[in-house]
Amino acid sequence: MSDLDLVVIGAGVAGLTAAIFAARHGLKVAVVERMAPGGQIVNADVIENFPGFPSGIGGHELGPLIAEHAEAAGAELALDAVEAIELAGHDRIVRGAAATWRARAVILAAGSTPRALGIPGEERLRGKGVSHCATCDGPLFAAQDVGVIGGGDSALDEALVLARHAARVMVFHRGANLDAQRALQDRAAATRNIEICLGASVEEILGQAAVTGVRLRTAGAPASRTLDLRGIFIQVGLEPNTQFLRGMLKLDPMGHIETDIMLRTSVEGIFAAGDIRAHSVAQLAAAAGDGATAALAAFRYLQERR
Ligand code: NAP
Repeated sequence: MSDLDLVVIGAGVAGLTAAIFAARHGLKVAVVERMAPGGQIVNADVIENFPGFPSGIGGHELGPLIAEHAEAAGAELALDAVEAIELAGHDRIVRGAAATWRARAVILAAGSTPRALGIPGEERLRGKGVSHCATCDGPLFAAQDVGVIGGGDSALDEALVLARHAARVMVFHRGANLDAQRALQDRAAATRNIEICLGASVEEILGQAAVTGVRLRTAGAPASRTLDLRGIFIQVGLEPNTQFLRGMLKLDPMGHIETDIMLRTSVEGIFAAGDIRAHSVAQLAAAAGDGATAALAAFRYLQERR
């Protein structure tokens, strides 16, 4: 017999929204999160495209607000790192490092993690000038020169935060055109100390005890050159947190969970929401929508089996 109707894995926007909807439909829900509730947004300086906040809202404010909403709706929040899901008849067993949950349905909303570049110096200098979080580490580089690698929304968000602290922020993008949304491109272009370097590939991060610079190759240049920088912020996309699910359900070649339109995965009673799933647009508003859809799909699934 299961103790719970639903376990949601991940307390980001998708998971917490799923918990709000499920709890309000009368389901007994637990949300299991390995870090702080809020997911990736807790590191976001300001979120300007979540409906209802025309002046923007800090990620450190929005995350706890949505968590508070989920708890007020009746969901139980637990801190643990989920290591496996097992099937036991109609029950789904969620095994964490410290505890185990048993429920009749599961929503996977564990999100994603910033991708590593895989260049020399990156791992060795992580925490010594190499970072994935300008909001956390930007103040350490006051009045210094820093670089951002990537050309998407995350890279420009990162550059705009860094520009408030650093003397100069160089954005290195390997392509000929940025991938970021127009609003962010315009803001970066209007920021005095941000320099966008297109056709620029960072081949190595240099330094012994701390970052001292990069080895950079620019399209059309005969050879790579060295550039002095004190910090390197890497924003080259996201990897879905699905390692613990490999072999258990259907993933796409990039490791995202395959779902149907009601966010059902290939395993009965298991649903996926947010940027962990294939074809997600990886936006907060979409994550909230996914959470609502997955919760209603789980509710209907459970009703049909009562
Ligand atoms: P992304 O959109 O996938 O962009 C990744 C960037 O990194 C691309 O410019 C890509 O360049 C580059 N890149 C990938 N692999 C690389 C490599 N090996 N070497 C050098 N460059 C590499 O990832 P993201 O910016 O992290 O954004 C992820 C999702 O979150 C997106 O859907 C985004 O819209 C969303 N997001 C939204 C906001 C916002 O709304 N404010 C903020 C952050 C993120 P190529 O084009 O050459 O592959």
